[in-house]
Amino acid sequence: MSGSGEREQRREVSVGHLALLMALVIGLAAFSILLIWLSVLDIRAGRDAMNAFFQFIMGLAGLALAGKSLADMTRMRLSSGEKPVEVVSVIQCVDCGHSAERNFSDGEYVGMLTGERCPECGGPVYVARIYVKGGGEERRQRRILGLPAAA
Ligand SMILES: [Zn+2]
Repeated sequence: MSGSGEREQRREVSVGHLALLMALVIGLAAFSILLIWLSVLDIRAGRDAMNAFFQFIMGLAGLALAGKSLADMTRMRLSSGEKPVEVVSVIQCVDCGHSAERNFSDGEYVGMLTGERCPECGGPVYVARIYVKGGGEERRQRRILGLPAAA
Protein backbone atom coordinates (compact mmCIF):
# COMPACT_ATOMS: atom_id res chain seq x y z
CA MET A 1 0.00 0.00 0.00
CA SER A 2 2.20 2.85 -1.23
CA GLY A 3 -0.73 5.29 -1.16
CA SER A 4 -1.15 5.22 2.61
CA GLY A 5 2.63 5.58 3.03
CA GLU A 6 2.59 8.79 1.04
CA ARG A 7 -0.22 10.19 3.14
CA GLU A 8 1.64 9.33 6.34
CA GLN A 9 4.72 11.18 5.12
CA ARG A 10 2.78 14.29 4.15
CA ARG A 11 1.16 14.38 7.58
CA GLU A 12 4.56 14.15 9.28
CA VAL A 13 5.86 17.05 7.17
CA SER A 14 2.95 19.23 8.23
CA VAL A 15 3.47 18.28 11.89
CA GLY A 16 7.16 19.21 11.58
CA HIS A 17 6.16 22.48 9.92
CA LEU A 18 3.83 23.23 12.82
CA ALA A 19 6.58 22.45 15.37
CA LEU A 20 8.93 24.87 13.57
CA LEU A 21 6.26 27.61 13.57
CA MET A 22 5.64 26.95 17.25
CA ALA A 23 9.37 27.31 18.01
CA LEU A 24 9.48 30.61 16.07
CA VAL A 25 6.46 31.95 17.94
CA ILE A 26 7.92 30.95 21.31
CA GLY A 27 11.22 32.58 20.29
CA LEU A 28 9.40 35.76 19.29
CA ALA A 29 7.48 35.81 22.58
CA ALA A 30 10.69 35.31 24.60
CA PHE A 31 12.47 38.08 22.63
CA SER A 32 9.51 40.44 23.17
CA ILE A 33 9.46 39.78 26.90
CA LEU A 34 13.23 40.44 27.01
CA LEU A 35 12.70 43.76 25.14
CA ILE A 36 9.97 44.81 27.57
CA TRP A 37 12.07 43.81 30.56
CA LEU A 38 15.12 45.72 29.28
CA SER A 39 13.03 48.81 28.56
CA VAL A 40 11.52 48.70 32.05
CA LEU A 41 15.04 48.49 33.51
CA ASP A 42 16.11 51.48 31.38
CA ILE A 43 13.08 53.54 32.37
CA ARG A 44 13.61 52.72 36.05
CA ALA A 45 17.26 53.74 35.80
CA GLY A 46 16.15 56.95 34.05
CA ARG A 47 18.30 56.12 31.00
CA ASP A 48 17.41 57.07 27.43
CA ALA A 49 13.65 57.15 28.10
CA MET A 50 12.70 57.65 24.42
CA ASN A 51 14.62 54.59 23.26
CA ALA A 52 13.30 52.54 26.16
CA PHE A 53 9.75 53.58 25.28
CA PHE A 54 10.17 52.36 21.69
CA GLN A 55 11.69 49.11 22.96
CA PHE A 56 8.65 48.68 25.17
CA ILE A 57 6.24 49.26 22.25
CA MET A 58 8.20 46.85 20.02
CA GLY A 59 8.08 44.26 22.78
CA LEU A 60 4.31 44.64 23.15
CA ALA A 61 3.80 44.39 19.38
CA GLY A 62 5.97 41.26 19.22
CA LEU A 63 4.06 39.71 22.08
CA ALA A 64 0.71 40.51 20.40
CA LEU A 65 1.94 39.00 17.12
CA ALA A 66 3.10 35.84 18.92
CA GLY A 67 -0.26 35.56 20.68
CA LYS A 68 -2.19 36.00 17.45
CA SER A 69 -0.06 33.39 15.64
CA LEU A 70 -0.61 30.96 18.48
CA ALA A 71 -4.38 31.52 18.33
CA ASP A 72 -4.32 31.00 14.54
CA MET A 73 -2.37 27.77 14.93
CA THR A 74 -4.77 26.46 17.54
CA ARG A 75 -7.67 27.17 15.21
CA MET A 76 -5.77 25.49 12.33
CA ARG A 77 -5.17 22.38 14.42
CA LEU A 78 -8.81 22.25 15.44
CA SER A 79 -10.03 22.54 11.87
CA SER A 80 -7.51 20.02 10.52
CA GLY A 81 -9.01 17.00 12.20
CA GLU A 82 -8.16 17.22 15.89
CA LYS A 83 -11.80 17.59 16.86
CA PRO A 84 -13.74 14.41 17.62
CA VAL A 85 -15.69 13.09 14.67
CA GLU A 86 -18.78 10.94 14.47
CA VAL A 87 -18.28 7.61 12.69
CA VAL A 88 -21.51 6.08 11.48
CA SER A 89 -22.39 2.59 10.25
CA VAL A 90 -25.31 2.04 7.89
CA ILE A 91 -26.70 -1.40 8.61
CA GLN A 92 -29.03 -3.17 6.22
CA CYS A 93 -31.28 -6.22 6.42
CA VAL A 94 -30.23 -9.13 4.20
CA ASP A 95 -33.85 -10.24 3.70
CA CYS A 96 -35.95 -7.09 3.25
CA GLY A 97 -33.30 -4.41 2.63
CA HIS A 98 -34.47 -2.20 5.52
CA SER A 99 -31.55 0.05 6.49
CA ALA A 100 -30.73 2.20 9.49
CA GLU A 101 -27.87 4.36 10.77
CA ARG A 102 -26.19 3.99 14.10
CA ASN A 103 -22.81 4.72 15.70
CA PHE A 104 -19.90 2.68 14.38
CA SER A 105 -18.70 0.06 16.83
CA ASP A 106 -15.11 -1.17 17.04
CA GLY A 107 -14.01 -3.87 14.60
CA GLU A 108 -16.88 -3.44 12.18
CA TYR A 109 -16.25 -3.63 8.45
CA VAL A 110 -18.40 -3.32 5.35
CA GLY A 111 -20.14 -6.61 4.58
CA MET A 112 -19.92 -7.94 8.13
CA LEU A 113 -22.98 -9.60 9.65
CA THR A 114 -23.51 -7.75 12.91
CA GLY A 115 -25.56 -10.37 14.76
CA GLU A 116 -28.34 -7.80 15.19
CA ARG A 117 -31.86 -8.50 13.97
CA CYS A 118 -33.90 -6.44 11.52
CA PRO A 119 -36.60 -4.46 13.38
CA GLU A 120 -38.96 -4.95 10.40
CA CYS A 121 -38.70 -8.66 9.61
CA GLY A 122 -36.25 -10.14 12.13
CA GLY A 123 -33.77 -11.11 9.38
CA PRO A 124 -29.96 -10.92 9.71
CA VAL A 125 -28.36 -7.50 9.37
CA TYR A 126 -25.01 -6.56 7.76
CA VAL A 127 -22.88 -3.40 7.57
CA ALA A 128 -23.60 -1.74 4.22
CA ARG A 129 -21.52 1.43 4.63
CA ILE A 130 -19.23 3.11 7.16
CA TYR A 131 -18.56 6.84 7.03
CA VAL A 132 -17.57 9.90 9.02
CA LYS A 133 -20.11 12.67 9.51
CA GLY A 134 -19.42 16.38 9.14
CA GLY A 135 -18.49 18.81 6.30
CA GLY A 136 -14.91 18.88 5.04
CA GLU A 137 -13.88 16.26 7.56
CA GLU A 138 -16.36 13.83 6.03
CA ARG A 139 -14.90 14.40 2.56
CA ARG A 140 -11.34 13.89 3.86
CA GLN A 141 -12.24 10.68 5.67
CA ARG A 142 -14.13 9.38 2.62
CA ARG A 143 -10.95 9.84 0.58
CA ILE A 144 -8.89 7.99 3.21
CA LEU A 145 -11.41 5.15 3.39
CA GLY A 146 -11.59 5.05 -0.43
CA LEU A 147 -15.30 5.81 -0.52
CA PRO A 148 -16.98 7.78 -3.33
CA ALA A 149 -17.05 11.57 -2.81
CA ALA A 150 -20.55 12.15 -1.41
CA ALA A 151 -23.97 10.58 -1.10
ZN1 LIG B 1 -35.64 -7.05 7.31
